[in-house]
Amino acid sequence: MTKKIIILGATGSIGESAIDVVLSHPDEFKVVALAARSSKEKCLSYAEKLGAKAYLGEDSAVRAVEENDADVCLTATVGMSGLKPTLAAIDKGMDIALATKEVMVMAGEFVSARAREKGVRILPVDSEHSAMFQCMQGGGKISKLILTASGGPFLDAPADLSGVSVEDALRHPSWKMGPKVTIDSSTMMNKGFEMIEAKWLFDVDFSDIEVVVHPQSIVHSLVTFEDGSTLAQLCPPDMRVPIQYALTWPERLPAERRTLDLARLGSLTFRKSDPVRFPCLRLVSEAVAAGGCACAVLAAADEWAVENFMKGAIGYADIAKTVEECLAKAPKIACDSLDAVWEANDWTWKHLSR
Ligand code: MG
Repeated sequence: MTKKIIILGATGSIGESAIDVVLSHPDEFKVVALAARSSKEKCLSYAEKLGAKAYLGEDSAVRAVEENDADVCLTATVGMSGLKPTLAAIDKGMDIALATKEVMVMAGEFVSARAREKGVRILPVDSEHSAMFQCMQGGGKISKLILTASGGPFLDAPADLSGVSVEDALRHPSWKMGPKVTIDSSTMMNKGFEMIEAKWLFDVDFSDIEVVVHPQSIVHSLVTFEDGSTLAQLCPPDMRVPIQYALTWPERLPAERRTLDLARLGSLTFRKSDPVRFPCLRLVSEAVAAGGCACAVLAAADEWAVENFMKGAIGYADIAKTVEECLAKAPKIACDSLDAVWEANDWTWKHLSR
């Protein structure tokens, strides 16, 4: 049976890789709609190639979901813009292939509850979460999740990162990704977001989620089970692998990919992350511990800071400082509804744009 798919964020890095996966399996998938906030020409040309409807502009993602029916909605927009269309897709009974982790960071509790209520699945597209999800397919009680982190471009750079330029931060050693997630990877905020995402996707306590630096990006994450056995998923870094798995789960489909050559790799290394160099990991733990809507403030402050760093308005070290300052000053907002999440988001943007 052909699976009908909507792609939100079609012209971004994940969207384009998803289109590649779909085009290589034309009998399995049918893209019905594409949405892109910018890159109009590109989106229109993909839509023509796929025989899909194109939605462009600010509210394109929500309209694409509202005006079409599909089996799966791939959410691959940037940041919190993914939240509204994802909820709309859940309400229409679509499974979600989720790439936009900010959706879970901001509102994981509500999004997962809504998905349960509507009987839809949230299938991870993030490579680490796909890895853990693949390790979980055999069942078993989980005792620990281990997320691997490449460490980004500044893993072994001198400790003072205040002079880092946008170009430096966009030079990721192992993954080719969109600018927001690449900057987030360089600060390791991305890894912190992934810890929160994992907590909600897999219903695991935050304290049972660990991060280990693995510069080769071959082991994409691991799961330890109650019997002491740890499973890992490995493959060369290629986002088409987790995207395809999210679209074909619980099946696998053949694909022309680079496969693993362990003898050529020789060794895989692992080490602890440096909390001084990467304060964002600490800020994530503090936001989780603070509870309420602190994680929504965290995501919003980071989005503002990364945007402004890329515009040249603030320095690299100011990203973490901005987030820290917002977390310290944000009013305590009980996280009891989606409205509260938006309130925390709005407070953060207003506070920072003053
Ligand atoms: Mg990831």
